[in-house]
Amino acid sequence: MNLIPYPNGEVKLSPELFVLGKEPSIERPDEPFSFATDQVQGWLTEKCHLVPTLVEPGQPASIRFRKSNRNLPDEGYAIYVSPDGCILEADSATGAFYAFQTFKQLIDPKKGSIPCCEIHDSPSFPWRGLLLDATRTFCPLSEILRLIDLSSSLKLNVLHLHLTDDQGWRIAIEAYPHLTDSRAQFYTKEDIRKVVAYARERNITIIPEIDMPGHFVAALASYPQFSCTGGPFTIPQGEGIFSELLCLGKDEALLFAKQVIGEVCDLFPAKFIHLGGDEIPLIRWKECPDCQSRMRELGMKDEKELLRWFANAMAQVAKKKGKTVIFWNDSIDTQYDPSIVCQVWNPLSSGSNTVGDRPLIMSHYFRTYLNLSHSIIPTREAYHYGLVLNDDPTRKTSMKGSEYLLWTEHIHTRKERDKHLFPRLGAGAEAMWTDPSHLDLKRFCHAFSLCNERLFLSPVARTHPLAANPPRLYCTLRRFLQHQQVRYNSKKSGITKS
Ligand SMILES: [Zn+2]
Repeated sequence: MNLIPYPNGEVKLSPELFVLGKEPSIERPDEPFSFATDQVQGWLTEKCHLVPTLVEPGQPASIRFRKSNRNLPDEGYAIYVSPDGCILEADSATGAFYAFQTFKQLIDPKKGSIPCCEIHDSPSFPWRGLLLDATRTFCPLSEILRLIDLSSSLKLNVLHLHLTDDQGWRIAIEAYPHLTDSRAQFYTKEDIRKVVAYARERNITIIPEIDMPGHFVAALASYPQFSCTGGPFTIPQGEGIFSELLCLGKDEALLFAKQVIGEVCDLFPAKFIHLGGDEIPLIRWKECPDCQSRMRELGMKDEKELLRWFANAMAQVAKKKGKTVIFWNDSIDTQYDPSIVCQVWNPLSSGSNTVGDRPLIMSHYFRTYLNLSHSIIPTREAYHYGLVLNDDPTRKTSMKGSEYLLWTEHIHTRKERDKHLFPRLGAGAEAMWTDPSHLDLKRFCHAFSLCNERLFLSPVARTHPLAANPPRLYCTLRRFLQHQQVRYNSKKSGITKS
């Protein structure tokens, strides 16, 4: 069956069809499935141009939701389509939501017909995410909502919003209004509430990222007093790793970090907050009398200890708000607070074997960086990351799942976004949802070419299948050159010494 992501349990297909008819009836769903009323009606109306009606429980209906009472996994579901009608079965609202996502792909929108079938399904990984860099290129609210729709159709459950970086600070903070007063493009708290609510209805958790103490020039351009040198600073354009950091020797700079974390924790209901912690050249701290004095006071021997002290302190600030902190893997070692979640991105930095037993989110540079060209990460590499993850020794212990990332230094329009995302985000969604025993790249590529019409409300612009999987020799060369670039950047930012 042409389903993305492909189901993990039993899939049975019969030759008969069930036809919804011009006015399909939906049995009014009880709690916890009442969300489905609007979403199913909306889909049938908008996508299939039908006129659905709601009927009371017990009356004949084309589509009904049913509680399984079989202790299905939280995100698990079953679908039964027979010539008599369609039953979507789950034990939770989340499971029912995913039953509906699969159901959407089964309907032929032109004929309103559904193949008779039986499907049992639940995901392989609990954390399945997309990172959107809304900083380098500001992403309009409507576009974030569209990406939430696309992600939820692919059964992703995390949207990681990268909100601050050297090139921009995109979220209003009441305690520090100058962060956003010189720039037109940022999210107000009302915008964020809207995004969070929209995502929640689609089973997506928004994880905010406030990158610190590096990737901080935009903040320091507004508040140079929190830097080591005092500035002034100009917000840079384009790609790069910049030396300016938050000064950890100044009490008011630490207060700034704490207050920002406090406000962001209050705004986002997620249990997690991402604090970056990546690509931190230590040169400014080495030269700063305040940072050096802080290190002496705390008996530290080098700046890496200072960084660890800061990370652990900020994890405590978040913990008081009931949140768990996520950091990129650049500097994490076993002395970081064990509650800190590690997002593994850099293949040259501490791997999943040196960061301790902490929870892990996997985002390998050469598998998940969808901003890179299709010749560096062809669809097959994004897809086969599922096999790599399942072979990793941490799979059974600490691995929560994975995220695919879209950094936007060079991606500015909706069309560019889509051409980088697709089909690779679909491949990633299947890598994270579907068990390795069911992964099949050929089937996925075929299914994606057919599903684009059915899966999304409006089909996405996507890279041509051949261009999305260029010849291996060409990819090998491009990947080698890119690897040299990562090596250079990692050395520059102190991740590696050699
Ligand atoms: Zn300093």
